Amino acid sequence: MLNALNEQINEELNSMYIYMAMAADLDEMGFGGMAHWMRKQAQEEQVHAFKFQGYVKDRQGRVVFKAIPEPQTTWESPLEIFKAALAHEEYITGTIHKLVKLARELDDIATEVFLNYFVTEQVEEEDSAHEVVDALEKVGDSVGPLYQIDSWLRKRD
Ligand code: MG
Repeated sequence: MLNALNEQINEELNSMYIYMAMAADLDEMGFGGMAHWMRKQAQEEQVHAFKFQGYVKDRQGRVVFKAIPEPQTTWESPLEIFKAALAHEEYITGTIHKLVKLARELDDIATEVFLNYFVTEQVEEEDSAHEVVDALEKVGDSVGPLYQIDSWLRKRD
């Protein structure tokens, strides 16, 4: 179980790295609000990694960091970026569900309860990415509405 949790730390840090790369590309495209949203997302991933790290420590396990793959650096459009972010969150949901199943197999009740937070969190993560993908799909290439979305996403706390 602890090995699998260690792997999840790497997944969360990899997510952070991917979103930082997406933020950089959005900055490059001139959408500072979308880049801000994506940097907030990256910060959340760091928090997730810390939560897993703290839990492994609390269970007297050893935290082992692994290499983070080099992320993609450019995308076609903001829509392609947010679609990729949504697909990545769907992938992460799968990894969390696998952890829950493993905890159940091992009858590790404490870990299953710890993971509940992440099961709920993933529903929110997918929903917030979906919301942006839907909005970007509606406006297409219209510059005015794209900037409206940009100022909406700039408001993320
Ligand atoms: Mg995460």
